[in-house]
Amino acid sequence: MVATVLAGLATACGGGATAPDAAASPAAAPVESPPAASATTPGTATATPAGSASPASPTEPASPTESASPRPIVPPPFAAKIGKVSRAEVRYSWHEGCPVSVGDLRKITMTYWGFDDKSHTGELVVNKSAADDLVSVFSKLYDHRYPIRRMESVDVYKGSDYDSIDADNTSAFNCRSATGSSSWSQHAYGLAVDVNPRENPYVYADGSHAHKNATGFVERPLKKPGVVNAGDFVVRTFDGIGWGWGGSWSGAKDFQHFSSNGR
Ligand SMILES: [Zn+2]
Repeated sequence: MVATVLAGLATACGGGATAPDAAASPAAAPVESPPAASATTPGTATATPAGSASPASPTEPASPTESASPRPIVPPPFAAKIGKVSRAEVRYSWHEGCPVSVGDLRKITMTYWGFDDKSHTGELVVNKSAADDLVSVFSKLYDHRYPIRRMESVDVYKGSDYDSIDADNTSAFNCRSATGSSSWSQHAYGLAVDVNPRENPYVYADGSHAHKNATGFVERPLKKPGVVNAGDFVVRTFDGIGWGWGGSWSGAKDFQHFSSNGR
């Protein structure tokens, strides 16, 4: 740090009075403000144009003139924040009698890669016991550029699994029974994630499915963006945290579904 500051001063002096602020108060104030602006996580590394004034340049002090254009092309690195969930945030998806308390849920706010080849920010409500593992999974999916349509709490859909699926929404917690069953779904514990449900539909044993927009995504293997296939990167990444895939079930197959116990 000291070396960088000195180098910066040296350049400033050599090039004429470019950095009057730095000269006036050599204290650390200007250096500390840019990281504070991007408060999210320890791992953010927000080396984007915002901080380009001077503190962002220590990585390439040699050529300040070139730092103008190449930066914006590089997508931001994956970033995630794990926070508590308020009762209001799960107003529709949680109710008395659910097998997990609101206090045991966490909201992951994180970047995901979109079908538009751009970085987006989404929210995933999960069991707190799985939050760290899921951050690691979605970090890998992001780096792999696996596209995700959208990532919102099912509360945005008033807790309707059907509407969330219809919107191709990737989500996790929803206090509901398993499809075709009276027992709790793993989603009711926040221990299951549905990924791109349009591209990865729930297919009944007779080959039928419930969403018109999923026609064309029922067969496997299938080479289309966002589609999950047996043994592919997405399946292997969830397998890395011990989570099983609904596409490997016999009978009905739930291609969108990953869960901690494989059910
Ligand atoms: Zn599911």
